[in-house]
Amino acid sequence: MHDPVLTALPPDPLALLREPLARLLTLAGPVSGTETLAAGAAMGRALAAPILALHDVPPFDQSAMDGYALGPPEGAGTAWRVTTRLAAGDAPVGALAPGEAARIFTGAPVPGGARSVLQQEKAKPLGEGIAVPANWPAGANIRLRGEDVRAGATLLAAGQRMDARHIALAVAAGHGALSVTRRLRVALASTGSELRQAGSGLGSGQVHDSNGPMLRAMLAAPDVELVEIGILPDEPLRLRDALLRASEEVDLIVTTGGVSVGEEDHMVGAILAAGGKIEVVHLPIRPGKPVKAGHLGAAVILALPGNPLAAYVNFWLVGRRVLDGLAGTPARPLRPLAVRSGFREERRPGRVEFAPARFAGTDPSGLPVVELLGRGSSARLAPLAAADGLCVIGPEVLRVEEGDLLALLPF
Ligand code: AMP
Ligand code: MG
Repeated sequence: MHDPVLTALPPDPLALLREPLARLLTLAGPVSGTETLAAGAAMGRALAAPILALHDVPPFDQSAMDGYALGPPEGAGTAWRVTTRLAAGDAPVGALAPGEAARIFTGAPVPGGARSVLQQEKAKPLGEGIAVPANWPAGANIRLRGEDVRAGATLLAAGQRMDARHIALAVAAGHGALSVTRRLRVALASTGSELRQAGSGLGSGQVHDSNGPMLRAMLAAPDVELVEIGILPDEPLRLRDALLRASEEVDLIVTTGGVSVGEEDHMVGAILAAGGKIEVVHLPIRPGKPVKAGHLGAAVILALPGNPLAAYVNFWLVGRRVLDGLAGTPARPLRPLAVRSGFREERRPGRVEFAPARFAGTDPSGLPVVELLGRGSSARLAPLAAADGLCVIGPEVLRVEEGDLLALLPF
């Protein structure tokens, strides 16, 4: 499948991620199963098959202006007799004779024989009729049948994720219903014995489960049906059983927490104990290196780190691609903007870094200048919430100076 992972700023700070991100996409093949929806309800859904135009668009020659449709020419200076009147929605009328004009309005069918529409501001009364300016061009102000789309032309490819524009195009070309990939079932679990549900009081040593609600919001999409598992403690058997149950009903399991190599990190063990396979995709990013992805039964499993910023960045980079793969739609490209550094710092090279950043003015050439927020902690949420995007710093960069060209993935 076409994989437009991003590029293009010299040097491309995302280059190192291309291959592992493409591999992640292959982990999640398209689900089988389609459903037919009213075209107007297809927002955000992936087309199951290519669609063709069922008829020409526009379906007839139509006026692009309020004015006069002019019959065959009689010569400049003569008066054109206005013999009929056509508004949008009227049926077409027969051919105009030489010297005849029809009063016509935008969207109305142009009568046979008419060669142009003279907009009303340009028509001058002359005798019983109207005068036409000298050298009035043939074809003016007529939208020709099929000039937008020809009957039978391919409108949209299989896998197209439908938005308002695609829906309008499909409907204009005759489609009232569309076949789309069925909704994806996604299970979501937060793991950690310290976690408490949103809004509940905190005992000592406890924190609120913010990843669950955050990922629920990130997963909110017309083609996702969420199965919320909620909070699971750091207990291998509880994890294993919950994963097994989920794997029987969903296409994708997303978890956070417990993926490092500490004694209290049980996620990988639980996946293996449940009979799953982990395909370690080494994604050299900061924050959030351990991304463990694999399969459990027919479900894809994506085990994200627990640190909130790491979980966010990973889902944004990886989770969305996995969803695209399951839906059978091309991966959403990452489109960094070129920005100017408004900061300086020494770096530890080796990984692609994603740092919350905000716009802080523009440089003399008009390029946005960015500054980093909340340097260095993958646990902090406040800088993420205040940011305009994630600044991407390439793995080879040892030092960023003020004025350096950088990439920013805007939110
Ligand atoms: P872990 O990946 O389980 O080692 O967790 C790393 C850090 O993220 C720990 O400080 C956890 O308490 C915190 N954390 C893990 N899961 C969540 C969550 N769902 N919501 C908020 N913080 C979390
Ligand atoms: Mg933990």
